[in-house]
Amino acid sequence: MSIVTRFAPSPTGHLHLGHAFSALIAWRRARAAGGRFLLRLEDIDPTRCRPEFATAILEDLAWLGLDWDGEVRVQSGHLAEYRAVLDALATRGLLYPCFCTRADIQQSAAAPHTPDGAPLYPGTCRSLSADERAARIAAGERYALRLDMARALSAVSQSLTCGEESEATIVCHPEQFGDVVLARKDAPASYHLCVTHDDALQGVTLITRGADLKPATHLHRLLQALMGWPVPAYAHHALLTDASGRRLAKRDHAMTLRELRAQGHSPEAVRLRISG
Ligand code: GLU
Repeated sequence: MSIVTRFAPSPTGHLHLGHAFSALIAWRRARAAGGRFLLRLEDIDPTRCRPEFATAILEDLAWLGLDWDGEVRVQSGHLAEYRAVLDALATRGLLYPCFCTRADIQQSAAAPHTPDGAPLYPGTCRSLSADERAARIAAGERYALRLDMARALSAVSQSLTCGEESEATIVCHPEQFGDVVLARKDAPASYHLCVTHDDALQGVTLITRGADLKPATHLHRLLQALMGWPVPAYAHHALLTDASGRRLAKRDHAMTLRELRAQGHSPEAVRLRISG
């Protein structure tokens, strides 16, 4: 089977060395095996993504010497596809509208949180009657769509495993996400929904990404099982850190590819720096 990898940044800022590291891993795995390396822009969140960052990502990757196969997939151009997945889950009774505000859900810092850092949803809107839901929607109240985790788990017959490419297989625990939001009030679909849909649609066989996303794999496996999508291999890599051991983030302006380039660093030097 031919290997297909991808790099899937969100255009919420400029790429920094950590992103370049991630992209290089995926690109190398594909190129070493004569496979395909895809580029996808995960710009589904209109509150955080900006077109100028999308343009900059393409420029920065090209400057670094990474080429990708085929067209860049831009998620915001595929909203109808994500809607179709939401509809399919809703038809099976696996989604429900949630009218809660952030303040409704906010709990003490000590309360359980999901791996995404959100407070674990207490299920307030899960038990609303069909009539109440319809009335609130008709009244124009805004809502998110949540996955009914208990129902979703009982809808999959097989036990879910989350094998890292190089590790023993472990049992998945998607329930740690609770009734996760799959469509936000202010964004048409969630990262989790779009990323699993697109990886399946694009035939990605190996997902290389930062270890910060490793917990998300538990949920992604559930979505794949619910939708009958193929299961790719996963290889999560360690995150690059700065001199003080903090992981690189968008705030680290000095570590962006733009800045390094402006300082006169060559692409070869940057690649060498992240190749260890
Ligand atoms: N778009 C995600 C991010 O920028 C990465 C998605 C993934 O690799 O699964 O953090």
